[in-house]
Amino acid sequence: MKVLITGGSGFIGSHLAELLLSNGHQVCSLDDLSTGESGNVDHLESNPDFQLVVGSVLDTDLVDKLVERCDVIYHLAAAVGVELIVSKPLESLETNIRGSESILKHAHRYRKPVLLASTSEIYGKNTEGPLKEEDDRILGSPLKTRWSYSTAKAVDEILAHAYWKEYGLHTVIVRLFNVVGPRQTGMYGMVLPRFVRQALLNEDITVHGDGSQSRCFAHVGDIVHALYGLMQSTDAAGQVYNVGATHEITILDLAKKVVSVTGSSSKIEFIPYDEAYEEGFEDMQRRVPDVGKIGEMIGWKPTTTLDESIDSIIDGMRSRLAR
Ligand code: UDP
Repeated sequence: MKVLITGGSGFIGSHLAELLLSNGHQVCSLDDLSTGESGNVDHLESNPDFQLVVGSVLDTDLVDKLVERCDVIYHLAAAVGVELIVSKPLESLETNIRGSESILKHAHRYRKPVLLASTSEIYGKNTEGPLKEEDDRILGSPLKTRWSYSTAKAVDEILAHAYWKEYGLHTVIVRLFNVVGPRQTGMYGMVLPRFVRQALLNEDITVHGDGSQSRCFAHVGDIVHALYGLMQSTDAAGQVYNVGATHEITILDLAKKVVSVTGSSSKIEFIPYDEAYEEGFEDMQRRVPDVGKIGEMIGWKPTTTLDESIDSIIDGMRSRLAR
C-alpha cells in the first residue's frame, strides 16, 4: 500500500511510519516540521519506501497531488499541546479545522480511506470514568482557549462522520488519550517528557495545581498498532474509538515516580494553573478511557506498563540531551 501520513515527522507519525515500513508499505510523510522534527525520521530517509514531503496540509494543491497518489491516509497533522494551543489559538484553529477539512475533501474526491486522529479533549471536563465513546462532552466557555482545541477536533470528527454518512467515505476516528514515548517533546506542554527532562537535569519538577489531577499514559508503540489495526479492518469505518492506556496515576505521583526512577535530586515545585497557562485556565481533573470498543473490533489492548514507558522516555531523553 502507498500510505500518506500527514504529520508523519511528528512524534506519533514517525513511529507509525516505522511500523508501516516494517509491514512492507510505502510511506509518504507530509509535514511542515512546525512541531514535528525532521530528526524524527532521519533514520528512515535512506529507506527507498519512505518519502518526506515538507509542506502544509493547508496547501490544497499539494494535498490534492499526494492524496491522488496514495491508497490510504492517516491524518495526524495538527496543532497539539495545551501550551501551544493557548499561546497560538488562531494558528491552531486554522490548522486543526481547515487542515482536516482539506484532507477529507480530497480523500472524498479520490475515494481514499482516512484515519482521523482526534483527542480525549473531546470529553472536556467530563470526569466520569472510564469514558465511553458515546459519553457527553462537558466544556467550559469558548473564550477559554483550551476548549477551542476540543471544539476544533469535534468539528473534524463531525466532518469525518458526515463524509461517511453522506458519501460512504471510509473514515475512522480515533480519540487518543495521553500518548507518550521516545521523541515526544515537552516544548508544547506534554507532561511526561517535561518531567523526565527536568529530572535528568536535576531541575525542579513543575507540577501544575496540587497535582491531584490524574491521567492514563499510553506508549506510542501500542498506539500505532491500534491505528494500523483499525485501518486493516473494513468494519471499523464510520466509527470512533478511544485509544489509550487504562492505568490511572495522579500527576504528583507521576512526578515522584520520575524522580525516583531517574535517581534525580530534583525537588517538586507546585505552579498555579493561572501562572502555568493563562488566567482562568481550566484543567480536567481526571481522564480515563474505556477501550472496550476497539478491543471488540480488532482485539487490541495496551500492553506496555507505565514503568516501561517511563524507561523508554528516559533512554530517548538521555540520548537527546547528549546530542
Ligand atoms: N502538567 C504539569 N506540569 C507540566 C506540564 C503539564 O503538572 O510541566 C499537567 C497538566 O496541567 C495536566 C497534566 O499534567 O494536568 C497533563 O498535561 P498534558 O499537557 O501532558 O496533557 P493533557 O492536559 O492534554 O492531558
